[in-house]
Amino acid sequence: MVKRRIAVIGVGKIAQDQHLPVIDNSEDFELAATVSTRGLAHNGLPVFKTPAELYAALPDVSLVSICTPPGIRHQYVREALDAGKDVMMEKPPTTTISELDDLIAHAKRLDRVLYQTWHSQYNPAVDRARALLAEQGVTAARIDWRESVRKWHPGQDWVWEPGGFGVCDPGINAFSIFTKVMPYPVFVEASKLTFPANRQTPIDVDITFKSGQAHKPILSAGFNWLEENGEIWTIRFETGTGDVIKLEAGGRTLRVNDAVVLQHGDSEYAAMYDHFADLLDSHTTDVDAAPLRLMADVFLMGARVNGPDFEW
Ligand code: NAP
Repeated sequence: MVKRRIAVIGVGKIAQDQHLPVIDNSEDFELAATVSTRGLAHNGLPVFKTPAELYAALPDVSLVSICTPPGIRHQYVREALDAGKDVMMEKPPTTTISELDDLIAHAKRLDRVLYQTWHSQYNPAVDRARALLAEQGVTAARIDWRESVRKWHPGQDWVWEPGGFGVCDPGINAFSIFTKVMPYPVFVEASKLTFPANRQTPIDVDITFKSGQAHKPILSAGFNWLEENGEIWTIRFETGTGDVIKLEAGGRTLRVNDAVVLQHGDSEYAAMYDHFADLLDSHTTDVDAAPLRLMADVFLMGARVNGPDFEW
């Protein structure tokens, strides 16, 4: 089979950790070029300083995967769509909902495929949890998402700038699972955002949700970015039949009443590229705005707390 040629835009941590190795091993895609402001090439392939240079030099490359921070994604995705490309984009899609709405409309107008990835959704354990929760209902849910910013975003100052999301950058991964598996809609009731006094985005967030459900489920979340003892990426559900269903390891382990019922390795990005190939085959756009919408509400409802300065 002839592989589809794709360019990766932004050769930072996630492009190097996931996108480039997954494309290297893909049956559907092959890398054509990179776009890197620092001039980082991959496997000796062409590298361009800007997307415009890529589009001019290699007009036959019709696919791009945009792996930059979210703040410049709207501009880059628009530019790619205008150049006639089908586009895959990293999470979080954009910094605002109006930007995301604009991209969806623009892709539709130009009849291009737009794919919003949410890597944590691509876990069989998440799908299994969703099916169980649909059957059993949810009476309580608790999200705990704690990791080290120094480990996962080393030196990335953009995460501390307005629009950089702070600890809500990993927290939105939890929301991408939560909004996928919950059997009814949830809304932010209250949130408390702790900002390092010298930074513009939160380092710790506490959230309570409401649902409008008659059985008044108890729903909450906590994100923290100073966890130096390994990652805690867990969502715990109590169900209407009395079971405790727990997704651990970012959605790779499913426990029911403490017994592991499904556990698997990391194939999130391979599954995302498989899905992108399917979307291209069917010429279908796939954008799930729910995680960003819920996170925007966390900021809209947020009470601010000043914490100690953060230094790398
Ligand atoms: P990163 O290491 O800072 O890489 C982003 C890259 O984008 C930069 O290295 C740079 O690459 C390029 N870039 C272009 N314009 C930029 C600008 N104005 N400011 C900063 N970088 C610019 O960040 P990352 O961790 O890869 O994250 C990128 C996206 O992936 C984010 O949306 C993040 O949420 C998501 N993500 C990250 C992780 C993770 O573990 N870190 C996991 C999943 C998803 P060049 O120098 O090559 O131009």
